[in-house]
Amino acid sequence: MKNERIENNIERIYETDAYQTSFTATVVSLSRDVSGKFLAELNRTAFFPEGGGQAGDRGRIEDFAVEDVQKIDGKVVHILDVPAHLEEAVKERLAPGREVPGEVDFALRFHRMQNHLAEHLFCGIAHSRFGYDNVGFHLSDVVTFDLDGALTKEEILSIEKKCNEVIWENVPVKVHFPSAEEVEKMEFRSKLELSEGVRLVEIEGYDMCACCAPALHTTGEIGVIKVVDFMPHRGGTRLTLIAGRDAYEDYVRLDEEQRKLMKLFSAKREEVAKFAEDYATKTNAMHTEILELKKEITGLYVEKIKRIIEDKTAGLLPGNDPAICFFMKDADEVMVRNVINECLKTYNGILCGFRGNDKEGYRYVCGRKEADEKESLRDYAKAIKDALGGRGGGSEVMIQGSVEATEKKIREFFDEN
Ligand SMILES: [Zn+2]
Repeated sequence: MKNERIENNIERIYETDAYQTSFTATVVSLSRDVSGKFLAELNRTAFFPEGGGQAGDRGRIEDFAVEDVQKIDGKVVHILDVPAHLEEAVKERLAPGREVPGEVDFALRFHRMQNHLAEHLFCGIAHSRFGYDNVGFHLSDVVTFDLDGALTKEEILSIEKKCNEVIWENVPVKVHFPSAEEVEKMEFRSKLELSEGVRLVEIEGYDMCACCAPALHTTGEIGVIKVVDFMPHRGGTRLTLIAGRDAYEDYVRLDEEQRKLMKLFSAKREEVAKFAEDYATKTNAMHTEILELKKEITGLYVEKIKRIIEDKTAGLLPGNDPAICFFMKDADEVMVRNVINECLKTYNGILCGFRGNDKEGYRYVCGRKEADEKESLRDYAKAIKDALGGRGGGSEVMIQGSVEATEKKIREFFDEN
């Protein structure tokens, strides 16, 4: 097998050497696309064009930023990000025939290679153990891919463990360009319909996969692999993993979170979840207790308001039920509504419950059993607003709002009306 390839008269440095990121080349053409972007083609390049789920490299040609690289009609097209004031300069300095220096952003390339080879390794082990194939692959901040078979959590963890052991083994990674006859006799994973020369990335002893992207020299450079998410997907499994730098950064982040929780729960590092569970259990019990107490308090208020109603209506003829206010200062709105609804079962006048305090103002809910054409409840909301400030509104059987007045003023309003 020969390990070099010149395709469409372009020497593709990235296919054989993923670590050579500085190079010089001759400009073959410079054009502009429909959006006005400058597109440069070179006779040789270290820039990897987007493919196989991996994004195109970034970097510089001369002093011009390469924002993306695409394979178009078999050619490698460098898409440049050129500010308007440099348009003349780019035309001159990247004129066809000029020799230019190129520099790939290696930190970004390396980061992507870590993620990409991590995916190869995981899928290689999954394939050899279960015979599953990768049927979808996407590389962004995380590596997401779909295997065409179901995996349990235990199976996934077992593959993940094996992957990390292969990383520690620091196995060589090799790139091959087999001839058509050689391909016939070879076993390898392939997720592409291969139309041109086959390029294979081999993790020695563990995986052989058709792939067009730059590859690391050894598995050790992946650093670490961790599956962070998995779910059943179309009869198979969708997995998300992080590797290398991403996994390290994730660990730093999680460690920071863990420290906060340890402090919050006064718990040891490995006991945080247990403390959080205890906390949740206690909180739920407390919540139930609070609901019970609210119910009890509501019942006591109902009795109290009924006594007030009796006092206020003593000696009055039926049909003359007055509007009555009451205060439940620390109650919530639901409690006030429940008290009103309960008392309205036996009262035909307007009942108005207030909660809050003189300093911050009061919120109110007013209700009546049924709409009264002679005395509109909505008009009553307006009367409260005019006398006590604030705002309010609602229906003919229930209004709610807020007032800016003190308890004394509120009581005066109800006594006068
Ligand atoms: Zn690949």
